[in-house]
This record gives sequence, structure tokens and C-alpha cells, in this order.
Amino acid sequence: MEWSLSTDVVVIGAGAAGLAAAVSARDHGAAVIVVEENFDIGGHAMLSGGRVHLGGGNALQKKLGIEDSPDKVYADWINFARGDSRYNDRDLVRTFADECVPTFQFLLDNGITFIEKPIVTPDASTVPRTFVTHEWHVPSEVIAPRRNRNGSGLVRRLAESARKKGAQILLKHEMTRIVRNGGKGRVLGIVTRTDGREVAIEAKKGVIVATGGHTGNVNFRRMFDPRLTEEYQQAGMPYSEQGADGELAAMDIGASLWATGTQTSEVGPAITKTRHMGTRWGYISLYYETDSPIFHLCKATGLTVTDWQEAILVNQFGKRFWNELDSGYDYINAALANHGDKDKLNGGGPIWAIFDADAVARQKWNPKPPNVDPDGYFFTADTIFELAGKIENPHQKRPMPAAALEETVARYNSFVTSGVDLDFRKPTPIHPIARPPFYAAWATPILHDTLTGLRTDTNAQAIDTRGETIPGLYCAGESQGGFAQHGLGRCLVFGRIAGRHAAQRNS
Ligand SMILES: Cc1cc2nc3c(=O)[nH]c(=O)nc-3n(C[C@H](O)[C@H](O)[C@H](O)COP(=O)(O)OP(=O)(O)OC[C@H]3O[C@@H](n4cnc5c(N)ncnc54)[C@H](O)[C@@H]3O)c2cc1C
Repeated sequence: MEWSLSTDVVVIGAGAAGLAAAVSARDHGAAVIVVEENFDIGGHAMLSGGRVHLGGGNALQKKLGIEDSPDKVYADWINFARGDSRYNDRDLVRTFADECVPTFQFLLDNGITFIEKPIVTPDASTVPRTFVTHEWHVPSEVIAPRRNRNGSGLVRRLAESARKKGAQILLKHEMTRIVRNGGKGRVLGIVTRTDGREVAIEAKKGVIVATGGHTGNVNFRRMFDPRLTEEYQQAGMPYSEQGADGELAAMDIGASLWATGTQTSEVGPAITKTRHMGTRWGYISLYYETDSPIFHLCKATGLTVTDWQEAILVNQFGKRFWNELDSGYDYINAALANHGDKDKLNGGGPIWAIFDADAVARQKWNPKPPNVDPDGYFFTADTIFELAGKIENPHQKRPMPAAALEETVARYNSFVTSGVDLDFRKPTPIHPIARPPFYAAWATPILHDTLTGLRTDTNAQAIDTRGETIPGLYCAGESQGGFAQHGLGRCLVFGRIAGRHAAQRNS
């Protein structure tokens, strides 16, 4: 192999796990190159709320008198009564529990600052453990500014520290392949693509996969849940896709997956109901203002739904399928169920919110661009019949039957009159859909968490399908399997561990 560049540790992905790995590898004396496919650093972590779950008795917990310990963290994350804990690999959880406090300190040491008040999250927490980072102070460098994207403060500071310490971050470098010395040998480096040419980078000590997970890869995600066909978008897009690149490249050289049941345990925000409708990217907590540097890709902010009494939700055949006020997995499963499409038995197809001019007035929505995307994600008409005929979208495979939508709306309006939803028991439907114009807004569920990925040991070293370590290959972040914890905590812990261990390896 002819290498264009050479270093000790190559990190693939400049998000939460990758940046922690880069800083940690530099702290332990290794030369580091980070490759990032995007035009900027941060990945999902840039768009995150910056709520960092690292307990065990960290410095802020101590300051605030919150009693916690690694043993308590461990007990919470293996609690069989909780779906997000039940299937976790106990060895990984033990390591996580023991490394929370030093990882929190590592963040403080690298300039990350936190709001000094814990927040309560649904994550396994018998005591408050989650603290929120401060948002980055330069709005134009926060990809979704002014919307509490506090994670920007985490990744900008980590990147700043990594660079100061001498790590090189190569943007617009997409890893396309991991190079291994024969079937059983050590990992030698990676190949990236940049500006249409290949750049091969030698890694004398190790390669760390930190590519953020797989929910953006339809083929890959369907290994765990065949219903997740192409109509489902991902949180974090259109900034950062979880394309499974790291998993695929690692599996090509023998890596294994781990604890795959965690992906479908129906806990937390793995699959979510939309909250910003009429845009393709309407994830619950993510709202792109028009001055976002990627607004040209987003195309619309979306209309924020605060109360699903304002609309009914219908499938591609114009039929309601569940109580619109529900947002849990009962709702999700109903949305993902086949609704009678004989050509496509997996996946529920697009979901549309249908509402009228009164809903718009009550909610003070402005149903015009740039708030909505009329290019396939938002439609208006003077009659329900005409509205059905207007809906055109790549995932709406055939026209919505207009008579069916008319019947659905008429039946729903009769439930408003009687006060009883005979079909789906929506508690007391209150608003008829009666005053034109009428609207149809994209409201299809959105995927968020990757909760399974590559098998590693407690040093974050990748393991193959025979249970053997792959020398020189590491994985951290959402691409790592075995620990179904939502978000940043585990990514930072195992990123830091991977960087440390790779740096300490003999070449
Ligand atoms: C809207 C939103 C809000 C969130 N809020 C929170 C929160 O408040 N608290 C919390 O704990 N978690 C939150 N999360 C989740 C959290 O952001 C992620 O769990 C975390 O960022 C995952 O870290 P990671 O390093 O695995 O992936 P990322 O942070 O996504 O980083 C992966 C990086 O790898 C790059 N990459 C991918 N493929 C390649 C390739 N082939 N070559 C080179 N680079 C590549 C990507 O571009 C990306 O930059 C949120 C996520 C979103 C989307």
C-alpha cells in the first residue's frame, strides 16, 4: 500500500466520540489525524442539546451535594426492569460506570463548561447525573443557532483543544475503506476520498471508528427492523447522516456486531414522532432557523406542533391509523405498520397531518415558505378532495384516494360532534376540520438513536465474529454496540478510552 500520509492514530469521524478519542490519544503521546467527511466538525453532537450523562460522583455532582458512585451507575444501567438496560453488555457498563468521573474531568480539563444545575432525563438515573454544556458563543458556527444546540459548545471546545494539542483534522475526507494486513493481521490504515481523489493514511498504532451509527443507511438499519424502509428520515439530517460507513468498513475486515436486540427494545427516542411538520427534517428537538448555514439544504423550518388536537394524522391511503395524541411506541408501531399496500409490505409509507384554516389561526402558523416546503412536503387546497389529489412526494407511491380522505375527515368531524373517537379513542376530539383552505403536511416518523453496532472489548478494541480482537481497530460512539445508552455519555467515555488505548499500543 502506498500511503499519502502517515500517523500513529487515525480517527474516523469528528463527532463526540472521535474528538474525545483524538484529544485522549494526543494526551497519551500519539500523533493523530482525524478524518471527517462533512464540511465542518461535530456530527450529531453539534446539533445535540449538550445534555451529558456522566455521573458516578463527578465534580459538579460533588459541588452540588449529589451523592452518586460508580456502583450506582452500574446498577442503574444493568437494571433488567428497564428496556434500555436489560440487554447491555455488563463488562462495557462496568467500564462506563468506572470511567464517568474521569471523563467528566477530562471535559473540564479541555475547556468544556457546564450549566451548574442538573437536569432530569428519562435515562437510567436514580440520582441527577445529566449536566448541560454551554452553547458555543459564535452563532454562525452553531449549525442550528438560537435553538439550544448546546452540544455545539462541547464539540467546538473539543476540536479546539485537539488542534491546540497538535491533532490534525482533515475535513471533507470520507473514509471509504479500512486496510488490514491479510485476514488475521493488524489494521494498517484507511483510505479516504477527498475532491474526487483517494488519500491513503497509514495508522501505525490504530484506527478508531467513530462514524456515529447506522440509522441513515436503509439497508443496514433493516437488518434490525425490516419495517424501516426508505421513507423514514433521520434526526441530525441534513447536517450529519448516520450512514453506517464505519460499521461496513469494519465488517468488511471481519468485525462483528454486538447486542443487536438493543436497537429494537422500544425505549427512548430510537424512532420518534415528528414535531415540526411540513418539512422533511422535522425532528422533535431540532429546528433550523433561516440563518442556519445549511438552510439551503433544509428548505423549511416546519410548523411546530404543540398540540395534536389541531390535526389528524393519516397514512398514504388517507386513513387515520391511531390516536394522534399518543407519541409512544404504540403510535410508532401503528405508523410503521402496513396499511394495505400490496406492493410494499414493509414500512408504513408517508404519514400526513391534515388540518384546516382554523387550526392555522389558533396556532398562529404561517403556512408559507420558508416555514413549509411545498416541494413535496406541504400542500394546500380549498377542498379535502382537491387536497388529496395534490399530494405528490417520492414516497407517496400512488395518489391518495380523495374519497377516502373525505370520508376520514367527515367521520372525524362526527367524532368531534359526539365527543367520542370510536376508531382510536383519541381523548375528546375537539376541533373539526371544516374551514378552508385545507392543508397536508409531512409528518412521517423520524429515526434517531443507533443503539447497536460493532462489538468491542472494554478497551474499545473491535472484536471479530470468532470473538478475537482485531489488532489496531477500535470503535466508540453510536457505532459501538453493546450499550444502549442514548447519547453523548457513552460516546465520550469510550472515545476517550479508545484514544488512550490506541496511543499506548506498540506499533
Ligand atoms: C437533534 C439531536 C439532539 C441530541 N441531543 C442530545 C443530548 O442532549 N444529549 C445526549 O446525550 N445526546 C444527544 N443527542 C445524541 C448525540 O448527539 C449522539 O449520540 C452523539 O453525537 C453520537 O456521537 P458519535 O461520535 O457516535 O457520532 P457523531 O457525533 O454523529 O459523529 C460522527 C461523525 O462521523 C462522521 N462520519 C461518518 N461517516 C464518515 C466517513 N465515512 N468518513 C469520515 N467521517 C465520517 C460524521 O460526519 C460525523 O461528523 C442528540 C442528537 C441529535 C441529532
